Amino acid sequence: MRLFGKKGSERQRKALHTRILIGLLAGGVVGTALNLLLAGFPAYQAKSEFILATFVAPVGQIFLRMLFMIVVPLVFTSLTLGVTSLGDLSRLGRIGGRTMLYFFFVTAAAASLGLILVNITQPGMHLDPQVRENLIATYGKQEAQASGPRFGIDNLVQIVPRNPLDAAARGDMLALIFVSLMCGIALTRISSEHAAPVIGVLRGIGRITEVIIDLAMKFAPYGVFALILNVTGRFGWGILKQLLYFVIVTLVGLIIFQFGAYSISVKLLSGISPRVFFSKIRTVMITAFSTSSSNATLPTSMRVTEQELNVPGEIAGFVLPLGATMNMNGTALFEGVTVMFLAQVWGVHLGLLDQVLIMFLAVLTAIGAAGVPGGSIPLLVMILQTFGIPAEGIGLILGVDRILDMSRTTLNVTGDITAATFITRLERRAQTRRELREKTIV
Ligand code: ASP
Repeated sequence: MRLFGKKGSERQRKALHTRILIGLLAGGVVGTALNLLLAGFPAYQAKSEFILATFVAPVGQIFLRMLFMIVVPLVFTSLTLGVTSLGDLSRLGRIGGRTMLYFFFVTAAAASLGLILVNITQPGMHLDPQVRENLIATYGKQEAQASGPRFGIDNLVQIVPRNPLDAAARGDMLALIFVSLMCGIALTRISSEHAAPVIGVLRGIGRITEVIIDLAMKFAPYGVFALILNVTGRFGWGILKQLLYFVIVTLVGLIIFQFGAYSISVKLLSGISPRVFFSKIRTVMITAFSTSSSNATLPTSMRVTEQELNVPGEIAGFVLPLGATMNMNGTALFEGVTVMFLAQVWGVHLGLLDQVLIMFLAVLTAIGAAGVPGGSIPLLVMILQTFGIPAEGIGLILGVDRILDMSRTTLNVTGDITAATFITRLERRAQTRRELREKTIV
């Protein structure tokens, strides 16, 4: 089954990749230059904020909203059709089980890498107490709005929605996933006479989302330019300097995982050359980096995974929507580093057992975090509270969170694609084995 139609010509796609990349670089250069130039002229700063808010931010927001607009129908149609095309429940169980195992191990590995790096480098020991007080005074208030949810049995219960339309309208992805899986399973159990028209409609909706994605991506070079310009133009480079050690440790961890761990995974588990893999998914990486949202990147990652990496539609349609919500490797790594960093700043000693617990909580919260900008922050507050680290500590890192969010989202999405290619290889092997067996029996 193919969820996405034929790909455009190689030349057209290359031209679009290049234009998106130019948008990203130009946005970064112009925004940083603007920010640094205006640093010495407070009077002009307000004007530049106004221009960014009035003319630049809306362009980025329109691009982001066009992507968000198709997420709910895309997740519903691709998961339902994915499950239906997988056919029998045993195949669904096998693929589902393997996907979850892969998600768990890779997320745990990412969180562990974060913890190892932060133990070696101790970034919390390098923070000036005066800087700590200043940052808390500036950003600490925002913590109140972040400290909401607790992790408990209720979170599990709420995966089953009372009203699927309400869940979809609120963008509750775990509930939407549950409903889609149920519909997919039900479709395999009713007569084909009743199932066929529904499947036809879902395929039609799938095609419509595909056309909208194409249109949105034509706008991507400008959208990406505006998003990056807006972030870098307003970014507090001064804060970056104060938290440099923490930011560098996190970014180094993310880079090692992105290009080290995923290279090993695609080479050994998926049988794809890492160079080919990264060159094929570069539009996905740029979209994730500029939107800071796994959900907003889902349409692009579905298309690229199917068209460029030849992952069958039913596997991409099953693994990627699950991954966008449940597999956040970059987020887990970031959470590991941040919890330990804040513990070091406040002098809270966390032993080996505590750190193992942090790793598990990072995996759990990475499943629960919403795939939207800053989606993991409320859950991070919860982990801090579990270990007796003041929740206002989150205020310390909020000023640099955007740049870290952009980077960790890139990993979150890349991790989903590595899972889809791995599952595809396993399924192809099983298929070959089946065919061989059938031949020998004949
Ligand atoms: N922005 C991340 C994502 O969408 C979630 C997070 O770590 O805040 O994948």
